[in-house]
Amino acid sequence: MERRHFIKQSTLLSIGGLLIPSAFLSACRKETLFEDLNYEGKVLIIGAGAAGLYAAYILKSKGIDFQILEASANYGGRLGKLTGFANFPIDTGAQWLHGKNSIFGDLISKSNTKITLDDSETKYWFNNQLVNSLPQNTAIFEGGELPDISYQDYALQQGLGNEYKYIVENIAGDQGAAASRLSVFGNNQEEENWSSGDEDFKFQETYFDLIDNQIASDVKDKILLNTIVSKVDYTQSEIIITDSNNNLFTADKVIITVPISILKSGDIQFIPALPDEKITAFSKIGMGAGMKVFLKFNNTFFDENIIGGEICAAYADDSIGKIQTDHILLAFVMGDQAEYLTALGSDAAITVALLQELDAMYNGQASASFIASHVQNWTTHPFVKGAYSYSTVGMGDARKIATQSINNKLYFAGEAMNINGHHQTVHGAVETGYREVINILNDIKK
Ligand SMILES: Cc1cc2nc3c(=O)[nH]c(=O)nc-3n(C[C@H](O)[C@H](O)[C@H](O)COP(=O)(O)OP(=O)(O)OC[C@H]3O[C@@H](n4cnc5c(N)ncnc54)[C@H](O)[C@@H]3O)c2cc1C
Repeated sequence: MERRHFIKQSTLLSIGGLLIPSAFLSACRKETLFEDLNYEGKVLIIGAGAAGLYAAYILKSKGIDFQILEASANYGGRLGKLTGFANFPIDTGAQWLHGKNSIFGDLISKSNTKITLDDSETKYWFNNQLVNSLPQNTAIFEGGELPDISYQDYALQQGLGNEYKYIVENIAGDQGAAASRLSVFGNNQEEENWSSGDEDFKFQETYFDLIDNQIASDVKDKILLNTIVSKVDYTQSEIIITDSNNNLFTADKVIITVPISILKSGDIQFIPALPDEKITAFSKIGMGAGMKVFLKFNNTFFDENIIGGEICAAYADDSIGKIQTDHILLAFVMGDQAEYLTALGSDAAITVALLQELDAMYNGQASASFIASHVQNWTTHPFVKGAYSYSTVGMGDARKIATQSINNKLYFAGEAMNINGHHQTVHGAVETGYREVINILNDIKK
């Protein structure tokens, strides 16, 4: 799947207000910075996804006392591994490494992690036919002067008629959004900062394994699972955190890494309330519905990528990059399509809807060769509530405001808090975990 096809311009990342080369970021990591610092305080991290785990990994390397509070029964957040469904491990969340020029580039080369370039071919479902190419150029959403209107409106304005509706939904869906909600200007502006490279890679094992083996292994003894944070009281110098069972935890600094959907929902009460400007900023950052459905068949009747379905705008052969024999097709469903399928109410109904669409594309072969399905609906996950953050129309600098720390006590990390154009990604989440530890260390030094 061609998720990151645009040419990225910048090779610099901004960490803690400084511009430093991205190569430095991956090279320095935990080893060199703040070697002389001796901090006696305690840091609590809320959320054990990629951002929280990496923040913990850096804190540990600095000898700073920390604990991670995680609501779910597992760590990893939007990274997950499904075994037993196919004869290869399946990524239930993040799957592609988007560019090697990231914090993971050297981690991968120093480890036994095997990755493969994803250069799979795409077919389009267009005017009820599978075709190799489209009559009109759909690469209209990048570069130049672009208006702050939705992908849907801009596509129509540029002459991509209704027959392109689900092609455009796929393009917006890559960004985790419905085409009616994603801003052409905002998305383009944020992605101009992208510096990780424009190739996508698949893991022979899973993305979860990389994080588990290289990062979580160092810190998992400090994760408290099934701990749903409900209140953060930062009135006094000692911050008091309460969980849903009324257990109390105290800390000097807190790194909040929960998804932006959780911050928007008010599931965590802040005392005193967060500033209005910050709450408004949260509300302007989009987070749409998203699910992955894995369909197992007894043969590979399908193409490597199928773009443009009305029920699911993006299907991909899940076995690419794996050592495998099973025939698994991934339905990558985002935005309105994920909302529609969620509303069907059951995994069985979701599966039937997808099989019907595939039958129309492949003359009934889907139902005839269907074996089983697995639905991973991130929208109904109580501690994620969606896919990943996206740029809304009128978003402005909401991401920057959302990211600012409060009173040298509360620090905000997680993919939605990445202001280097790497939001929506695992490496982008990890960068924010790193950035907030550096911000804490800088604040301590002052
Ligand atoms: C379907 C899908 C496909 C994706 N594909 C890719 C991909 O191919 N490549 C890529 O780079 N990225 C991909 N992403 C995005 C990537 O998964 C995320 O950007 C990244 O994993 C987010 O990490 P995070 O630490 O910011 O948040 P999360 O992983 O969401 O971690 C936040 C943690 O906070 C916990 N939490 C929430 N509320 C509370 C609470 N009240 N108390 C305590 N803990 C709480 C959650 O349980 C969660 O574990 C995909 C995401 C989805 C959903």
